[in-house]
Amino acid sequence: MLLRLPTSVSEAQECLAEGAVPIGGATLLWAAWQREGFPELAMSLRELPDANVLDRETVGGAVVLNRMDDRVPDVLRLAAAAVGTGAVRRTATVGGNLVGSTLRCLLPAAIVLDARATVLETDGVHETDLAELVAKRPLLLSLRWRAPIACAYRKLAGEAGGPPPLVVASAVHADDGVERLRVAVRDGYDVLSGSTPWATDTDEALHALHATAFGDLPTAAWDVVRSQVTGLLGRG
Ligand SMILES: Cc1cc2nc3c(=O)[nH]c(=O)nc-3n(C[C@H](O)[C@H](O)[C@H](O)COP(=O)(O)OP(=O)(O)OC[C@H]3O[C@@H](n4cnc5c(N)ncnc54)[C@H](O)[C@@H]3O)c2cc1C
Repeated sequence: MLLRLPTSVSEAQECLAEGAVPIGGATLLWAAWQREGFPELAMSLRELPDANVLDRETVGGAVVLNRMDDRVPDVLRLAAAAVGTGAVRRTATVGGNLVGSTLRCLLPAAIVLDARATVLETDGVHETDLAELVAKRPLLLSLRWRAPIACAYRKLAGEAGGPPPLVVASAVHADDGVERLRVAVRDGYDVLSGSTPWATDTDEALHALHATAFGDLPTAAWDVVRSQVTGLLGRG
């Protein structure tokens, strides 16, 4: 297997055109390749500046999870800190988690930040939304969002070999002068999300959320949502 390390977007585009398989930290790929055989050509974005940005409103696809510190909003930092073990977080990348894994603990956080993805395809760089990113699985260069006014993240403890633990993420943004609350929940492997304008009344915001698909959540899951939203809007 030949591993390419492009240092520019045009070089990465050439690698894609040659059929290179994207590789992040190989925390999932290594085992898969040992089972199924190695590809002829792979490409890591770790030398590509566009995929290594890290600040209040951007994170690169090649950024390793344990590099996500207080430069990124808490909701994303806490989501990254809750992935797997320390060894996994020292190696696994944002792209591998969001595009290449099934658990995707970062996804609810990215949804409530209303993040957009910058992706590279053989015909060039595009911007896309998270739904398309997850469905089409293109090469993720980076994620971009607007810094929220307030945000929160909680992942319940899971049992080894059990179903994925519940994840609840929320954030408040000012959209054209109106504050909007976004909430996302990972319940099993399903992720549901919703949003509502928020003036001052937390009960009203909760009522509006409960009238959407959130109303179908099991009571225990809704209790976690209610408690997080109440805490967040109390601070906001
Ligand atoms: C022990 C263990 C515990 C874990 N626990 C959790 C958990 O609690 N929560 C959770 O969310 N995940 C968990 N994971 C999954 C973990 O997040 C993934 O291993 C990791 O995200 C994969 O990242 P990676 O960079 O190593 O990807 P790799 O293994 O290198 O690649 C995985 C896939 O992603 C693709 N890929 C990599 N980078 C990109 C990119 N930039 N753009 C597009 N595709 C790309 C690859 O082509 C491949 O298909 C766990 C994994 C392990 C091994």
